[in-house]
Amino acid sequence: MDALTLVHLYPREMNIYGDTGNVLVLRKRLQWRGLDCRVVPVSVGDPIPGDADIVLGGGGQDAAQGEIGADFVGRAATLRAMADDDVVMLAICGTYQMLGHEFLTKDGVRINGAGVLDLVTRGSDRRLIGNNHVDTEWGRLVGFENHSGLTELGDGVRALGSAAEGCGNNGSDHTEGAVRRNVFGTYLHGPVLAKSPEFADELIRRARRRRGQSEALEPLPDELARTAAAVASGRPR
Ligand code: GLN
Repeated sequence: MDALTLVHLYPREMNIYGDTGNVLVLRKRLQWRGLDCRVVPVSVGDPIPGDADIVLGGGGQDAAQGEIGADFVGRAATLRAMADDDVVMLAICGTYQMLGHEFLTKDGVRINGAGVLDLVTRGSDRRLIGNNHVDTEWGRLVGFENHSGLTELGDGVRALGSAAEGCGNNGSDHTEGAVRRNVFGTYLHGPVLAKSPEFADELIRRARRRRGQSEALEPLPDELARTAAAVASGRPR
């Protein structure tokens, strides 16, 4: 059976709070089931492989977003075409912001985004920080948020879920993250997939379905991940 190609965007610049763990979780969940995959790191100047099945990007400081900004926006047409072709994407915090139309930092620096997701982000003087969990149609996602950017969703996306306790996209409308087709963005670090096995499998399922691989995924013993999620979501912010 064909190996899935996982693309890891900017592993050096965009990896705070262990977001690289999302790549490891997907790789391990495939390997545990005897399913092959290759992980392709894509840094500034590297081509995105044409056979990408899942694209992952983590959080980053405003400065790191500035460093990769020109390279990222140079990929806008490619990323938009991939999203329209139902490539699966999971973008965390800084990369999530960069999939939107623009990120205006609190210092007034405008970083253009790829326009894959219909949203804009404005830096604020407030930091939205703390443990958070979000109930979605793919189960509860559990993580940690830390951002100054306030994200407003446009009509072309829907929220990933509702931020019951945490701040989520902007601290005021209770939305968290965004979804369009197979593209998911969230502020949850953690890495979020380590404590959200159903969501991890949903991403794998979507990528496989797109390739015509519709066999059910073998269940995995996820007790430890579920316990971690329950403990983490019970923690105070
Ligand atoms: N620099 C962005 C912000 O503060 C993203 C931070 C992050 O990725 N944690 O809003």
